[in-house]
Parts: sequence; structure tokens; C-alpha cells
Amino acid sequence: MKERCTAIVLAAGQGRRMKSKIKKQFLNIAGKPIVYYSLDCFERAPFIQDIILVTSSDCVDYCQKNIVEKYGFRKVRKVVVGGKERYDSVYAGLLACRNTDYVYIHDGTRPFIDREMLKRALDAVKQTGACAVGMPAKDTIKILDREQFVTKTPKRSRVWSVQTPQVFRYHVIREAHDAVRRGNMEGITDDAMIVEMHGKCRVKMVEGSYENLKITTMDDLFVAEVILRGREL
Ligand code: C5P
Repeated sequence: MKERCTAIVLAAGQGRRMKSKIKKQFLNIAGKPIVYYSLDCFERAPFIQDIILVTSSDCVDYCQKNIVEKYGFRKVRKVVVGGKERYDSVYAGLLACRNTDYVYIHDGTRPFIDREMLKRALDAVKQTGACAVGMPAKDTIKILDREQFVTKTPKRSRVWSVQTPQVFRYHVIREAHDAVRRGNMEGITDDAMIVEMHGKCRVKMVEGSYENLKITTMDDLFVAEVILRGREL
């Protein structure tokens, strides 16, 4: 039987760093909301069967009408309510999945994913059970102590910045979340970290792209417009 893949797209953040009345995932780039672009990529990828969109309770109707219906996303099975922290929103997405073998967890504020990247991640997760896209650090990275003194300079080729999507065999991420949620979740910023903490499955890194930026501040919006214009040429 063919294995099934679900994409959980996160759009339940408050986007406070954006200093805008509209939540950042719904701000427009080139006339369409930021979250549209990653939904469109998952919708078009033949190896993705289902999409779960996670948003805040006040945005469910907006997402349903102004995103899912407006742009005709037929793979979006549910729009579910997220939680206070990113990992709570991920968990709500995991609970909403039905009959899935693999799950892509993606920040809706990263519009520039592409099908090749999604495929690289799928090939990896089939081998390993857990993977994340990212890129080697361009800068040399310093590890600091509390007083801001350098304690270590790791070899640059071994230092990557992590992006999303992060892709898991469903039971790997579900079990890790179930276990880690019983303890202290402070400082958890991505899903790979939850699997690392659980310690049952190693996480493989695969290449994302340097364009796969997370839109956090207004400056990022301008960069995003430039990237998009470059793609349309
Ligand atoms: O805040 P941060 O940049 O880490 O958010 C990354 C992604 O997680 C965004 O797409 C945001 O909408 C989402 N998020 C969420 N629920 C939260 C916090 C963040 O879905 N409680």
C-alpha cells in the first residue's frame, strides 16, 4: 500500500515582532498572504495527500474562507486551533492527522520551499525516520558563556542552521511529543529538538535552501518580495 504524507502548516503565531495589526502569516507578498505560498507548494506536490492548517481560534473562519476556499486548496482537510507555544500548535496538528505514515511540519511564515526540497526530505525520512531541512552556516559560529565570552568555535562544516519543513515518521514524532510533553518544555524551538530529547531516533539534516527564510520582521518582507520577483523572471 502507498505510504501517506500529511503536511502540518503552522499559522497560529501572534507575530509580535512584525509590529503590524495583521498577523504576519496573513500579510501579503506580491498580492497573496505569506502562508499561501507554502500551502500551494504542498498542494501541488504529488507525494503529499493531506494538509492540516493550524491557526489561532480567531483566524479559523478567515483561513477557511480567505485562504482555503479562495485559492481552492483541496488537500486542506482541516483548519485546527493551535496553542500558546509553537509546540502546542504542532501537537494540535499531530492530533488532527488521520492515517498518515509521514508528517511534514512547516512554519507558514517560510514561503520559499520548493518541491525538490520536499522530495529530498521524503527520501531521507524514509531511511531514517526523522529529518530536517537546513543549510550550512555561512558565518563562523561562536558558542558563548553567560558573560558573552567565547567558549568554543565549532568546525563550520558541521554547523548548520535549521529550517522547516522537518519531516518525521508519524509515530516517531507523536511518541516524542507525548513523552517530552510530560516534562519541562522550556526552550524548545523546533520539532527535531523534541525527537533529539526523546533519544529514540537520530535526526538527519538535508539541504533546504538559502532562500528558505522565515519572515519575522518587516525587513524580511522586502527581501521576500525581491526573491519572489526573481522567481517570476
Ligand atoms: O514564533 P516563531 O517564528 O517561532 O513561529 C514559527 C511558526 O510557528 C510561525 O509560522 C507561527 O505562526 C507558528 N506558531 C504557531 N503557534 C504558536 C507560535 C508560533 O503556529 N503558538
